[in-house]
Amino acid sequence: MTAPMLQVDKLSAWYGAARILYDLSLEVGRGEVVALMGRNGAGKTTTMKAIMALIAARRGTVRFNGDDISRLKPFEIARRGLGFTPEDRRIFVDLTVMENLDIGRQPPRRFADGTAAPLWTPDRLFKLFPNLAEMPNRLGGRMSGGEQQMLTVARTLMGNPLLVLLDEPSEGVSPLIVEQMANTIVELKRDGLSILLSEQNIHFARLVSDRAYVLEKGQVQWNGAMAELEANQDVQRAYLTV
Ligand code: ATP
Repeated sequence: MTAPMLQVDKLSAWYGAARILYDLSLEVGRGEVVALMGRNGAGKTTTMKAIMALIAARRGTVRFNGDDISRLKPFEIARRGLGFTPEDRRIFVDLTVMENLDIGRQPPRRFADGTAAPLWTPDRLFKLFPNLAEMPNRLGGRMSGGEQQMLTVARTLMGNPLLVLLDEPSEGVSPLIVEQMANTIVELKRDGLSILLSEQNIHFARLVSDRAYVLEKGQVQWNGAMAELEANQDVQRAYLTV
């Protein structure tokens, strides 16, 4: 078996004196889509930020594409091909769609075994996101929330990542965009990309994910195949339904 693309071992994180994550371990295999699930405040965003070294107070080991990246800085981690799409979107509102994409551009990459990673160009992204293709010159600030969400994902892909952390891609966007986002994730998986996505909603997660980790209070409470989670009403009631 090949080593996982992402391997998080006993990750803990603190905001000031408040401990948020407790020895959290998870793995994402190559080409796998894994859901990080849990209610508001369970620690999903904190897990992603801690993986990206965006939280200073943390402990534990993060291995990515065969290397220990626990001591690297966020920009060094991004350069190795670990993409992060934050929940709060962060597109440049004064720049056009095309300019936003250009900012995300990074060199082509290879997996640890030497095979080439999927290579992205604006043309290829416009096929994946037809809405964006219709507005290459639109300013970021003049786009709808759903369009901005797609642009954020597209910009991350311009970095030719090997794995992407997607923080709540379905949050606050219309049902139509949610459906498009699910189709996009399935296509990215087909292309060989690995994805860790955070999600509160099992209806979205089940459309795209192979496996799930369910968090509460910064700890993994359950993990297993998505199909098992779908069938397990007890776990859903305890950790997911509001
Ligand atoms: P959401 O669905 O709201 O994004 P989440 O599962 O991603 O939820 P986190 O955002 O990781 O949860 O929050 C985990 C805990 O950390 C919560 O109790 C939250 O209040 C706390 N927290 C988050 N950000 C900070 C911060 N900057 N300073 C202090 N506490 C924080």
